[in-house]
Amino acid sequence: MSVRVRFAPSPTGALHIGGVRTALYNYLFAKKHNGTFILRIEDTDQNRFVEGAESYIEEALLWAGIVPDEGVNAGGDFGPYRQSDRKGRYKDFADQLIADDKAYYAFDTSEELDAMRDRLKEARVANPQYNAITRMQMKNSLTLSTEEVNELIEQGHQYVVRIKLPRNEDVRFKDIVRGWVVVNTATMDDKVLLKSDGMPTYHLANIVDDHQMNISHVIRGEEWLPSAPLHVLLYEYLGWEKPEFAHLPLLLKPDGNGKLSKRAADKLGFPIFPLNWTDPVTQELSKGFREEGYLADAFINFLSLLGWNPGGEKELFSMKDLIELFSLERINKAGAKFDIGKAKWFNEQYLKARSNEELAEQFNGLLDTPIEESRALLIVDALKERVTFINEMVDAGRFFFEAPDAYDDKTVRKKWNQQAVDKLLGFANRLQGKEQIDKEEARQLLMSYLAEDETPLGHIMPALRLSLTGEAGGPDLMAIIEILGPSEVITRIKKATEVIAIND
Ligand code: GLU
Repeated sequence: MSVRVRFAPSPTGALHIGGVRTALYNYLFAKKHNGTFILRIEDTDQNRFVEGAESYIEEALLWAGIVPDEGVNAGGDFGPYRQSDRKGRYKDFADQLIADDKAYYAFDTSEELDAMRDRLKEARVANPQYNAITRMQMKNSLTLSTEEVNELIEQGHQYVVRIKLPRNEDVRFKDIVRGWVVVNTATMDDKVLLKSDGMPTYHLANIVDDHQMNISHVIRGEEWLPSAPLHVLLYEYLGWEKPEFAHLPLLLKPDGNGKLSKRAADKLGFPIFPLNWTDPVTQELSKGFREEGYLADAFINFLSLLGWNPGGEKELFSMKDLIELFSLERINKAGAKFDIGKAKWFNEQYLKARSNEELAEQFNGLLDTPIEESRALLIVDALKERVTFINEMVDAGRFFFEAPDAYDDKTVRKKWNQQAVDKLLGFANRLQGKEQIDKEEARQLLMSYLAEDETPLGHIMPALRLSLTGEAGGPDLMAIIEILGPSEVITRIKKATEVIAIND
């Protein structure tokens, strides 16, 4: 059997990071088995439709490198891939279920439904449901005669179609992640399959589409596990073979206490969406991982390990590695704690591994006035080990563009003394007349100059760094000298010796 999996988001807003993980696991599983990864847009709930959400989802997946083989944009033989474009396909199956006595018409108004729930609550029923017992007191095709039902329909009364669950029967299925799942129908609701506007609910549309699209494995978030028994029954009632199921563990807040929500992420100051998202109603902007500076491959590596573990100590995996290693059997049951520190660590690793050429180009793109490539190459090389995100390089390397006008207090107090100043001016003298100097030459020049009177390196280095950058720490000092060039180094040393008061 060929592997066909789908990611089936509803376009109700920005794609949550948990959704990207679901898409990723589907994608990895498909690629691992030479299968097909499908993007299906589940937009039957028109009330929750949000402008721009669908294109956001497409763009986010593309950025992350999770490219659909079939879908709204990718095309394919099983389309349309947007449920609103498949509208006409669902009602027949609801009719078939009614004809087979597996579903029924229900005419109850929302007031009548509320009254039923109130009655049950009064009778201390913890979880009031429309089920095998309560349905017999309601207005539906099980309690009304065929004539009454036909009359109500002819008169244009609103109705829904509900599944007819058995009163007390175990539904069993094997979930690849969770093992055997057994749920008794006594705890389940006669869910609506077809709404009064003729549109299918998620449950009906999802089953029909998965069947018609030949889906072999349903890989989705744990929040859908409670719906799975209903889906299993629907497959059975419609006489269709059901797909395999794998329900993925939840993403938890960093402290492991509860589901990772947008609110929690906002509070802790990290993104929860892959890309920037502006809420079309409130205009509120939520920052995305991309815009925060995360590299797509670092983001994917981080995400891949939130709920799956390949075994062993290794943590750095390219998409290709992940495809090779991925298996549904190695998905954890327990929720995965979200650790933004780990995401940053991954980004640092991927940034360090980037070529200077690539970084230099991106760095130049961040500057108001781009600089010569040769200079950009030296700057990114000096800074790449020192930042988490490429956009931090602009700030971390500000001193490459501007002489400092403030100097780190502590270093001034501890290291700025007569000996240091004399030595700095002496070193400046040695640089005089040189057009340029590379970091090796700079090192040798400084060492031999200090060796003349055996000045220890530690007596002058902090002062030299302070005069060039204003800071106590930073990238390799000799690289800084190379990048600034002799004449700028001389100017900065002179300025520092003029403006910083000497400590004794
Ligand atoms: N439309 C559902 C969602 O938004 C899909 C659930 C499923 O994969 O079955 O997550």
